[in-house]
Amino acid sequence: MLLKPFVLATLLIAAPAVVHSQKSPTPATSGVKIGIRADTISSPRREIFATWRAYLQDGPEHFARSPYWISADQQRWPIFDLAAAWIYFGASGYPRPEATLVAIDPVIPGHEGARDTFIVRALYTTTDSAGNSLPVALTRTYAVQEGDRWVLASPIPRLTAAWTRERRGRITFIFPPTHVFSASRAARSARFVDSLSRAFRIASPPHISFYVADRPEDLARFVGVDMAVPQTSFGRAVPANNMILSGLPVYGEWYPHELTHLVLAGWLADREVFGTMDEGMAHWLGGSTGRPFPVLMAELSRELAMRPSLTLDSLLGPGHRSDSLANRAAAGLLALANERGGVNAVKAVLTPQKGPHGLDHLSAAADALDLHGPSLDAAWRAFVRRTAQK
Ligand SMILES: [Zn+2]
Repeated sequence: MLLKPFVLATLLIAAPAVVHSQKSPTPATSGVKIGIRADTISSPRREIFATWRAYLQDGPEHFARSPYWISADQQRWPIFDLAAAWIYFGASGYPRPEATLVAIDPVIPGHEGARDTFIVRALYTTTDSAGNSLPVALTRTYAVQEGDRWVLASPIPRLTAAWTRERRGRITFIFPPTHVFSASRAARSARFVDSLSRAFRIASPPHISFYVADRPEDLARFVGVDMAVPQTSFGRAVPANNMILSGLPVYGEWYPHELTHLVLAGWLADREVFGTMDEGMAHWLGGSTGRPFPVLMAELSRELAMRPSLTLDSLLGPGHRSDSLANRAAAGLLALANERGGVNAVKAVLTPQKGPHGLDHLSAAADALDLHGPSLDAAWRAFVRRTAQK
């Protein structure tokens, strides 16, 4: 069973773009704007609009069960409205996006009966500090009849119904007819899930749905996002749904970064592991945006050489940062732990300890590796340099 905070936490863990966003969503109070010629009066558009507006007013970013969403989706997926992650966690640091209804149209033009399916299109915008309107997402939500009521529904089951399914181990790969399936990459992912679970002595997810798109825009599209903030659609793990979304051809069926997030989500959530360390695991075992771990260490090594003030403490210590440099620093520290003490040392570093400024991972690392004071920093720097040269 997944409790709501856990569902949300795992979603946050899953998507690097949302790490900063825990505090950004505020309660949904504002209304929605109505776009040019968007009909909200004629039936059934009036009823569909009322459903959609009520759903928005409840705050979709909380991912709570909703009377306004089709029950089949909610039974299948705790995070049933995936587009909400793009809308509400895609523009961290900006005010909560507001909706403008663009149109409510039947899926098949001209079919407008109560048994027909409709699409609600909406544009979500935020504002910059000068008050300019900035687009965050253009979305497509389905509306269908459940009993005698209109409810919202995810595009995923509808758009992927004709996609091909290939099972390898615990993973079902789901991809469009235009995609060329790589059996070897798929088998590698299946083996990775089992070996990572074994190493951590945790149960593998019973079943993983792994959606493969050939472009980030295609990935966004099938979850219902026709326009997204750049770099938010490369790929995601949605641990609560046991779901991987892959949108970069360099990964395709072999996506160890997101699989690491998925397999370890429960273990990390139980220990309240910091987001940066979660990213560190994924960066170490899976690289980042197509760049393997040694390349990430080469990038980190160059930064460390250029900026001598950067230390483990400034990157991962109290008031820790959450950016790509901190993620690389964490990856290096975890790989160093593995080299020195295997998976037990890695687990120890991942378990935050009480340090002088509250819970932190550096105190845990110092104890686990028996490297205290400057010697931990020195060992980490030497490891980064050495790995970068490989
Ligand atoms: Zn990640």
